Amino acid sequence: MPRENMTEWDNELYQKVDRYNLVPNLEQCLQCGKCTGNCPVAAMHPSYNPRQIVHDILAGDSDRILQSEEIWRCMWCANCYRVCPVDIHYPLLMMQLRYLALENGYGLKYVTPINKYAYRAFTGGLTFIPGQRGVDKIKGLREGIGVEPWPKVSEKAIAEYGAIFEQTGAVDWMKALDEVQAKGEEKPVKLSFMGGRLIDERYDTE
Ligand code: SF4
Ligand code: SF4
Repeated sequence: MPRENMTEWDNELYQKVDRYNLVPNLEQCLQCGKCTGNCPVAAMHPSYNPRQIVHDILAGDSDRILQSEEIWRCMWCANCYRVCPVDIHYPLLMMQLRYLALENGYGLKYVTPINKYAYRAFTGGLTFIPGQRGVDKIKGLREGIGVEPWPKVSEKAIAEYGAIFEQTGAVDWMKALDEVQAKGEEKPVKLSFMGGRLIDERYDTE
């Protein structure tokens, strides 16, 4: 689809994505593709292309990029950053891009399932507690090596953990996710891979 016919064209997309000014050198991207060539996710999923994502952000391809399933594939290993000849911090770019997608109602399915773990960490200092069988097994193993049966998180540690959640804005995000999930406002995406790039099937029909 020609760029000029796109419905959501945003010349300030880069500034909106990089709201915390964590990737101020994105416009220095050489489009060399070393990030993609060294990305383990791209090796498994040919449709995932960091170089293309950088290009689309700079081009202002807002509609396509925010709805993309692909932006949820990155696992933040930073291999792309390690090899980038101009030190573009792609993982931080991706983090901010996901924020923007979430604010626009996309990708919630990737985040809402883990919200309960965030609440557990916030209130109890532990993200995961196994069922009774698992607890019994852990207690047995710990007793076997001579440490206390169950790792207790101190009240001080829980309070400090909670303060970090509050001060970083994580609690606001958790509550916002609750509200959006309750309303069922997630926007569906439908993208496929064609001719070396992501295609939004609503537009690219020919
Ligand atoms: S490795 Fe760096 S310069 Fe090369 S395409 Fe990726 S982001 Fe751009
Ligand atoms: S941080 Fe993401 S894009 Fe970069 S190499 Fe790792 S998986 Fe690929």
